[in-house]
Amino acid sequence: MQLKENYSLKKLNSFGIDITARYFASFSTWEELQELKKCIPNNTLENPLILGGGSNILFTRNFDGAVLKNEILGIRLVSETKDHYILEAGAGENWHGFVMHCIDNNYAGLENLSLIPGTVGASPIQNIGAYGVEIKDCFHSLDAYHFQDKTVIQFEAKDCGFGYRDSIFKTAYKNQLAILRVRFQLSKQPNLTTSYGIIEQELANKHISSPSIKDISNAVISIRTSKLPDPKIIGNAGSFFKNPLIPLSKFEQLKNQYPSIPGYHSDKAEFVKIAAGWLIDQCGWKGYRKADAGCHALQALVLVNYGKATGTEIWNLSNDIIASIKDKFGIVLEREVNIL
Ligand SMILES: Cc1cc2nc3c(=O)[nH]c(=O)nc-3n(C[C@H](O)[C@H](O)[C@H](O)COP(=O)(O)OP(=O)(O)OC[C@H]3O[C@@H](n4cnc5c(N)ncnc54)[C@H](O)[C@@H]3O)c2cc1C
Repeated sequence: MQLKENYSLKKLNSFGIDITARYFASFSTWEELQELKKCIPNNTLENPLILGGGSNILFTRNFDGAVLKNEILGIRLVSETKDHYILEAGAGENWHGFVMHCIDNNYAGLENLSLIPGTVGASPIQNIGAYGVEIKDCFHSLDAYHFQDKTVIQFEAKDCGFGYRDSIFKTAYKNQLAILRVRFQLSKQPNLTTSYGIIEQELANKHISSPSIKDISNAVISIRTSKLPDPKIIGNAGSFFKNPLIPLSKFEQLKNQYPSIPGYHSDKAEFVKIAAGWLIDQCGWKGYRKADAGCHALQALVLVNYGKATGTEIWNLSNDIIASIKDKFGIVLEREVNIL
């Protein structure tokens, strides 16, 4: 644990934005986090930024405060019932590494979430999801340190306000907590989610009719590797926008005008989920590039940094995209990525 000043975060955010943090330190235990209080000026510790893998953040300026990188590690089996295991992981554990640990030990439930970048500690914040599964489906509880109250609070699933790419950690508790440990309830008998057409297709291509959790994970890895740009090669933060939910009546009206508009069932009655990527593509942004900021040529939902784009350039591009979609479809896109 060493406090650094004016520290470059370029390698610590998946967009590869070249900015600095006024103060930077990493911590691997709760005690180290306590120690940091003593050496960082108080006013900047009020709202420190807890950094995980930096894969869901767009920095638009230097961060004039303390950035604390969570490196709390460790995975342990907490308890076991007839049907479930309760597994706890340190917030700094790599998410995909944790999922692989579950698969190797035949703990079922997280296989569809293979290869999502980032850390275990960030996974509840936007209730990460992919291919029909969200972490809320396996979430048990978490422990978080509250900076103002100086206490560790336990949150159970019912306390977290989980929604589509949303939770109470993005709203009421935004920037107030350091998540320390997360516990998951994983199944002994797999209840596989293969309903996503693309997973079914991938399994069929491999002639797998009775898949194991390992088969599902491999299918997801193969799909993701072929579809999504690797941030190590082109800076990005995955989906930049959320898929919007629109009232059924609005969807029907748009369907008359644009018969190919894709609409999906949503958890909210009388609302339809629209693929934001389709909207962006229809407005001609797919493959767009201005200087080093762009919209990926294969995945319109993914904004990219081809090298030297600034956070402001990516932000401006996102504004232009939002404006054009509002203009054409009357739908306002919401950003999924945290803007700083
Ligand atoms: C190529 C690519 C594909 C992606 N695919 C998906 C996908 O399929 N589904 C999906 O849901 N997301 C996806 N994402 C987004 C991202 O991987 C997830 O949001 C991930 O959970 C972010 O983890 P992180 O550790 O990198 O968080 P960071 O980017 O470091 O932080 C994100 C937010 O969480 C806060 N935070 C992080 N850790 C803690 C902590 N321990 N305590 C308190 N606050 C904390 C940060 O302050 C920040 O506000 C993708 C990203 C990329 C680059």
